[in-house]
Amino acid sequence: MAELEVADLIEAVTRRVLAQLGQVDPGRSHGDVSAQATGPYDPTRPLVAANWKMNACAEGIVPYLADLAAADTAVDLLLFPPAVLLRAVADEVIRVGRPDFGVGSQDLHPQPNGAHTGEHSGALIRAAGGTWTLVGHSERRQAGETDAQVCRKIHAGLDAGLGVMVCVGESIEARRTGATFRVLRNQLLAALGDTALQPPAPQRLAVAYEPLWAIGTGEVATLDQIQEATAFVRRVVAEIYDFARARDIRVVYGGSVKPGNAREIMSEPDVNGLLVGGASLKGPSFRAIADASALVVATRRQP
Ligand code: PEP
Repeated sequence: MAELEVADLIEAVTRRVLAQLGQVDPGRSHGDVSAQATGPYDPTRPLVAANWKMNACAEGIVPYLADLAAADTAVDLLLFPPAVLLRAVADEVIRVGRPDFGVGSQDLHPQPNGAHTGEHSGALIRAAGGTWTLVGHSERRQAGETDAQVCRKIHAGLDAGLGVMVCVGESIEARRTGATFRVLRNQLLAALGDTALQPPAPQRLAVAYEPLWAIGTGEVATLDQIQEATAFVRRVVAEIYDFARARDIRVVYGGSVKPGNAREIMSEPDVNGLLVGGASLKGPSFRAIADASALVVATRRQP
């Protein structure tokens, strides 16, 4: 049975069980990751993601999405709320008429089910309306997540039919000692090497380059550092898969992105999008970042 059919079957069974428990509406579907873009997959569309971390968005989900609903449609927007808010965000995305927005979890458990108190599987994320998952965020790696676990989580996300955004990035020590590329290469090989024989469709995988020293610090990597690192990530992705996938898989930058710097970061040739923490907590701020990203693409397309 094809990978997606298995995922769909898992979702259908999960939805039925949860519906019997009165927890979801069995007739309601939020589509899957392939429904995110309005047409066929276009890797030149920026992927701009909000990581709310352990915060509810500042103004509440309804006003936040009312703001975001007017965001430029030339960008694929992706929201990673806390898992307990997934269903509410997924429902509001539909209600405001932007089913093209992706919604995802900030983590997932590698097992499809079982005695894992407090965890959530890919199938449960889908049942809650999620279409994506974030994997290997540095805050989880700092809490003890290993490369091997990141790899298993990527498999679990893909097996469940989710899109997966995997984070890589070097520490300040690695940057200072010239080890940045070695660290990035090792993280990418450990995370994705195992999927080389059965590569995911490019629209179901994104890599976020997030230097640890730029996350939540207000210190942004320089444009040269961002371009050099995202181009390097793409080269390693080509090494793992092939050149076509390396061209089509979106590589995004994260680390103190704000409305005021989004446009210049997005202008770097190997940056296909952004992963935004703090500045994604308010609708107008995140929308300004999305619109700045759309502007870059529109400018690039002009003859
Ligand atoms: C993040 O947590 O992924 C992130 C990039 O955070 P911030 O934008 O706040 O630096």
